[in-house]
Amino acid sequence: MNKIMNYDIDLGELELALSERKLSKEEYAKQRTGLLGGEELRKELEDLSKSDVDQSLRISLKPSGIYIQFDRELIKYSVREWFFMVRDSVWGGGDITPENWLGISHLANLYSRSEEGLPSIRLTTRQNMQFHRVAKKNLIPLVRGLMETRHLTLNGCGDNARNPTACPYKSNIFDANALARKIGAYFQLPLSEYYKVYNEEGTAEPSNGFKYSEYGLPRKLKIAVGGYYYDEALHKEVRCNCNDILTSDISVAPIIKDKTIAGYQVYIGGSLGQKNGKPTFPSLSGPLGIFMTEEELMKGLALIGHVFQQVGDRKNRHSARLKNILIAKGLERSADSFESLLLDENIFNKVRKLGIDWYREQIEKLGTKIYPPIELDLGKVGRHHGWMKQFDGKWSYGLWIQNGRVSDSNPQGKVKSLIDEIVSIIKPTVRTQPTQDILFLDIDETSVPILEGILKKYNYGNYSKLRLNSEACVGLHTCPLAVTESEKYFQPLIMELEARGYANVEGVSIGISGCERHCSRNIRYGISIEGKGEGIYQLKLLFGKTDDDHLAKDIICDDKKFLRMVPKEYIPDLMSVLIDNYIENKKEEEYEISLFHKRIGMGGIVRFLMSNIKTAHLMQRVSDPYLT
Ligand code: SF4
Repeated sequence: MNKIMNYDIDLGELELALSERKLSKEEYAKQRTGLLGGEELRKELEDLSKSDVDQSLRISLKPSGIYIQFDRELIKYSVREWFFMVRDSVWGGGDITPENWLGISHLANLYSRSEEGLPSIRLTTRQNMQFHRVAKKNLIPLVRGLMETRHLTLNGCGDNARNPTACPYKSNIFDANALARKIGAYFQLPLSEYYKVYNEEGTAEPSNGFKYSEYGLPRKLKIAVGGYYYDEALHKEVRCNCNDILTSDISVAPIIKDKTIAGYQVYIGGSLGQKNGKPTFPSLSGPLGIFMTEEELMKGLALIGHVFQQVGDRKNRHSARLKNILIAKGLERSADSFESLLLDENIFNKVRKLGIDWYREQIEKLGTKIYPPIELDLGKVGRHHGWMKQFDGKWSYGLWIQNGRVSDSNPQGKVKSLIDEIVSIIKPTVRTQPTQDILFLDIDETSVPILEGILKKYNYGNYSKLRLNSEACVGLHTCPLAVTESEKYFQPLIMELEARGYANVEGVSIGISGCERHCSRNIRYGISIEGKGEGIYQLKLLFGKTDDDHLAKDIICDDKKFLRMVPKEYIPDLMSVLIDNYIENKKEEEYEISLFHKRIGMGGIVRFLMSNIKTAHLMQRVSDPYLT
C-alpha cells in the first residue's frame, strides 16, 4: 500500500499499479541504476579515459540537470566530440546574490562555451541557467563550484518535478517567487543521493518532501506560479503571466481580494511538446479548481504529483505527460475518438474537461477539498523590460537579452561583460525571467544613472519592437533534438524583416523553434515558424488574443494542410505578405496580428495566400492534416 508522505493518504485504489506494467526501456534503465545513478555513475564520471558516459547511465544524469551530446557540426566530418549540457535549476528565477552571480559567471568562463567558443550561460524559458559544451573532466568541478555559490543542478532535467517558474517581479501583495521556492524545495529529489555522485563530502538532512518512487515520475512535471503586484507606473494592481503559466503541467494563480490572498486557482495538463510522426498534441492547462489556503495548495500539489506518479504511462514516453492522462480518462467518458480531438478544438476541450473531472475526483477521494474554479483573467504574457519602481521605493531594471544568450558572442553585443559589470558595480539582486531575460532588483535611486551609463558604454538599447517581441530556442547545433536552426536563424530573419521596414511594426511577434517541441513557446506567438527539416519550417498562426488560452494552429483548410514544409529562402516573403496584409487591412481594435487573423479566419488566410503572387507557389504543396 502506498502512502503519501506527510499526508498519510491511501493510494491503493489507484489503477495501473507499476508492477503490472511492461515498462519502456527508460523505466528499466531507471530501475537498474536508481534515480540519480549512485556509485556506478560517479565512477563513470571519474573515468577520464573516455569522453562520454555509458549509454545505460545517461538517463541517470538527467535528474541532476545534465545531459550528454556531441557536436552535430563535426559529425559531418565523422568526428564525434562529446560534451555535456548542465542546467542550474533556479526556483522562481532566484534570488541570485551579486557575489553568487559573479561566481557563476566565473564558472562559465572556466567551463562553458558558446558555439563560437566564448564563455556562455544560456537562460531558458524555465528560468534555468544552462552551461553549454562542458567537457567531462569539468563536470564534477562545475557542479561542485555551483554548490559553493549555493546553486544546484538537481531537478534541472529528468523524470521529476522541474524547478518551478514564477513571475520574478517583487510584490508585497503576493510573493510568487517565495511560493515557487517552497514548491521547489518540496519536490526536490533526495539531496543525499546527489551528493553521493557529485560531492561525497556533502551532507543532507533526510527529506520531508515529495516521496518519489524509485523510478521517479513517468515523465517531467513542470509547475508555474503566476504573479500579482502593484504597478507604480499604472497606479493599479496587475496580474502578471510573464511565465505563461498555462503552458506548464501544473499552474497556480493566486486569487486576491482587497490585497489579501483569498485562495489559489490551479490548472493542470499544459505541455507544448509534440513528436513528429506520433499521435501527439500540444495542450494548455485547464482549470482544476481552488485551494483555499497555502497549506491546502501544497497538499493538493503533492496529490496531483502522486496521482501522476501512479497513473502516468510508463510504457510509452510519447504519452507519459500529465496531459495524456487527462485525454485518456476523458476519452473513456466520451463517445469521441482520439483522431477527432486532434483536429477539433471543441472536442479537445470537452474531452480534456472530462479528464480533469476524473483527476479532481481522484484527489478529492484522497481527502482534499477542491472548490469549483472561477473565471480568472491571468494577465499579460509580457516581459519585464526597462525601469520599474518597486513597492519599497527601490528600482528594478529588466534587461532584454536576445534569446537568453549571456555571452559576448551574442549578436546583440557583449552581453556577458555588460551583466558582469552591472553586477560588480551596482550590486543588485539578480533574478532570471521566464522570457530568457534578466531582472536586476533592489537598485537605489543613486545607482540609476550609473546603470544607465554602463548600458550606454555597451551600446545597449535601440532594439526594434519586432526584435524585442520575438524569441527563438537554441536549435541546431546546440540542441540534440533540433532538425534545423532556430537561434542562429533569428538574427538573419529579423535583420531582413527590419531592413524591409517592419522594425517597429506594432502587434507582431514571431516565435521560432528548431523542432516540434516548442521550447521557445513559439506556438504562443502571433506567428510561429517551427523546424521540420534542415532549412525547412512549418508556419503556424494564432487566432485570438495572445494572452488568452490559444495555441497557434497548423494551416488546415478543406482537409488539407498548407505550409508544412516551407524552405528558408521563402520565409521572409511569407512573413512580409502576412504582415502587410495585417497593416493594410486591420481594424483599429485589432492591436495584434492574431486578432486580425481571428476575424478573417483560416479560410480567409488560405485564400489570401493562394491569391498572392509571392506565396501562391507555396500553397500548391499540401499534406495530410493529421501529419504533425
Ligand atoms: S530544437 Fe526542439 S527540443 Fe531543441 S530547444 Fe528547440 S524546440 Fe526544444
